[in-house]
Amino acid sequence: MQWETVIGLEVHVQLATRSKIFSGASTAFGAEPNTQACAVDLGLPGVLPVLNEQAVAMAVQFGLAVHADIAEVSVFDRKNYFYPDLPKGYQTSQMYHPIVGPGEVEITLEDGSTKHIRIHHAHLEEDAGKSLHEDFHGMTGIDLNRAGTPLLEIVSEPDMRSAKEAAAYLKAIHSIVTYLGISDGNMAEGSMRCDVNVSVRPKGQEAFGTRAEIKNVNSFRFVERAIAFEVERQIELIEDGGSVVQETRLFDPDRDETRSMRTKEEANDYRYFPCPDLLPVVLDQAYLDHLRSQLPELPADKRERFQNELGLSAYDANVISASRDMAEFFEAVHSECGDAKQAANWVQGELSGALNRESLSIANSPISARQLGELISRVLDDTINGKAAKEVFQALWNGQGESADEVIEAKGLKQVTDTGAIEAMIDQVIADSPAQVAQYRDSEPEKRGKMIGYFVGQVMKASRGTANPQQVNGLLKEKLDALL
Ligand code: ADP
Ligand code: MG
Repeated sequence: MQWETVIGLEVHVQLATRSKIFSGASTAFGAEPNTQACAVDLGLPGVLPVLNEQAVAMAVQFGLAVHADIAEVSVFDRKNYFYPDLPKGYQTSQMYHPIVGPGEVEITLEDGSTKHIRIHHAHLEEDAGKSLHEDFHGMTGIDLNRAGTPLLEIVSEPDMRSAKEAAAYLKAIHSIVTYLGISDGNMAEGSMRCDVNVSVRPKGQEAFGTRAEIKNVNSFRFVERAIAFEVERQIELIEDGGSVVQETRLFDPDRDETRSMRTKEEANDYRYFPCPDLLPVVLDQAYLDHLRSQLPELPADKRERFQNELGLSAYDANVISASRDMAEFFEAVHSECGDAKQAANWVQGELSGALNRESLSIANSPISARQLGELISRVLDDTINGKAAKEVFQALWNGQGESADEVIEAKGLKQVTDTGAIEAMIDQVIADSPAQVAQYRDSEPEKRGKMIGYFVGQVMKASRGTANPQQVNGLLKEKLDALL
């Protein structure tokens, strides 16, 4: 039997407002427990919530970025349940009239192909506090700092068909919210959290299978692993004559498995009702137009432009446009050196490698876009060869010089393209290597090409790496063949 996987994601994005969604308490990460929750966040008697305008603007910006319908009127509801990290006894959310209606996101797969994933809706809600299980022996601590932090929950349609597509979708959402600047997207700090709904069905069958919802999937890698495990579990279960029950499962990254948490609750278990303390949110066209006019160029548009106007491959365009910082760095390098392909190679190759090794983000790159662009220009105009370019890169990275030209000058890396000078070095190397010359002469003609490497190496060494390698190759071949 052939099985098809069906996946829908619910992504919680923490909005980058300075204060909470309904109070003035700070949202800064990492404060001492229970120092950033105020009476409103705790739901003490007599308090009234006031909606944070910034959270509304951010939700709308997201909606516009995914070409969604924005609700003229949206309403906050109370979702009632008991949990120690929820002192109010209800979460303020939007159940029936979310602020963002249907939209869609374009995802790019590893082979460069694209697919559209539909957004069902996105709604505003508040986060709960956090239980601290590790810090207290035999007890659980509660930190309410996070209570009332604004979240945008983005609910997809069940349009994904593989773990790879789900990861690509999550990356696309991450790109969009960080481009917009509405979230820092920091998954390690919980700024983006994801519930993964997974089901399987026999290939060709139209009706969806019963799904399980997996919580606690907090990295791109875990999304793929959790889905892989869950798909296998469901298929095995069905093939053994069982059936999948609709339930909430927890992903355990240490054991690489999902475990049952609870059977699925129904909406009416929560006794949703409109929050009497908050007015409906009413948005007019002028407000939407204003926010639309402020949207930056979005990742999908950048990707397309990089491909169509700058001639980058689908792969390069996708990798570079995924992060706004990287895209802007690339564009600055390109405008300095004028060669998009070279700019893309250096940014993804030498620069990304060096940043990764030192765990630096591109925003903190020790080498500026301007410096890198100049360096590439010096390769393009043949001032230095590729090997010297790497040395210049390293020097600039280490702060040994202000510009590529300064380093080239100081280190004497200017490429030797003077034929006479190169010929003199070649003659010297040939004179110093009688044994290798004899060996060259006695080899089969088709093996000589490979042997020439030895001589090239010697000449490059004699020039301290500055000779033009193409010229060295050509001249060497002429001179050696003349000895045959
Ligand atoms: P609930 O609100 O009860 O969690 P929804 O119907 O709103 O349920 O769906 C939640 C998520 O589950 C959505 O992202 C949706 O795409 C996904 N989903 C729904 N049905 C399936 C299914 N059969 N297989 C996989 N995902 C599904
Ligand atoms: Mg849900």
